[in-house]
Formats: sequence, structure tokens, C-alpha cells
Amino acid sequence: MCVFCDIVEGKIPSSKVYEDENYLAFKDINPKAPVHILIIPKKHIGYLSEVDESNKHIIGDMAVIANKIAKDLGIAESGYRIVINNGPDSGQEVFHLHMHLLGGKKMSFSV
Ligand code: AMP
Ligand code: ZN
Repeated sequence: MCVFCDIVEGKIPSSKVYEDENYLAFKDINPKAPVHILIIPKKHIGYLSEVDESNKHIIGDMAVIANKIAKDLGIAESGYRIVINNGPDSGQEVFHLHMHLLGGKKMSFSV
């Protein structure tokens, strides 16, 4: 049982902004910025920490998709932030690897 797998399978609705054979991107249900998109691999991977030599292309693929969405949504020039939470201290709530794409406002904290 995984909410993002349910979204991939169409059991739960989502506002899709991008889809291809292996990836899906949709609007975050509780947006923290005017643009807040989640990019996920369709194949279930729980954590960033499961990424290794065999599947590291997934991170690059998701970054390419994030850049494309940023252009499509008009935030390529104003800038954006990519976030991947991993584990308890990060605040990860959904245990299916996802990349947050945040933009459309000045970020309220610096890292
Ligand atoms: P994280 O804290 O990195 O695990 O982020 C999980 C994100 O998923 C949060 O920003 C939630 O608002 C978002 N989220 C949870 N359920 C849904 C859903 N059904 N559709 C869209 N976004 C969701
Ligand atoms: Zn899943």
C-alpha cells in the first residue's frame, strides 16, 4: 500500500503535469509554494538511500524532468528549488521516492 503507487495506477486522482513510460509528475496536494510539483518514478522505490550504482540514472532523469516542467510552468528564469527528503529527520511522509520542485516565490529559508 503506497499512495504514490495508487496515483501511478490511477486509483487516486492527481493533477498531472508530466508523464512518460517511467515517470510521473503531479501537483502537490498541500503546496508550499506557488509552484509545487512532485516528480516520481512509476516503479516503487521507498527512499533516496536505495539509490545505488544500478539505478542512479533515476535521479538524473528526474532532474531533467524537473527542468522541463520549470520551463513549461514559467519559473526557469526566476529560479526553483529541488528537494528530496530521506528518513525521519528530513520529515519524509510518503515512502515512495519523489523529488519536490518548488518555485514561484522567494524561498523563505536558505540552505
Ligand atoms: P515528503 O514529506 O517529502 O514525503 O512529501 C510528501 C508530499 O506528498 C507532501 O508535500 C504532501 O503534501 C504530498 N502528498 C501526499 N499525498 C498526496 C496526494 N494524494 N497527491 C498529491 N500530493 C500528495
Ligand atoms: Zn509506491
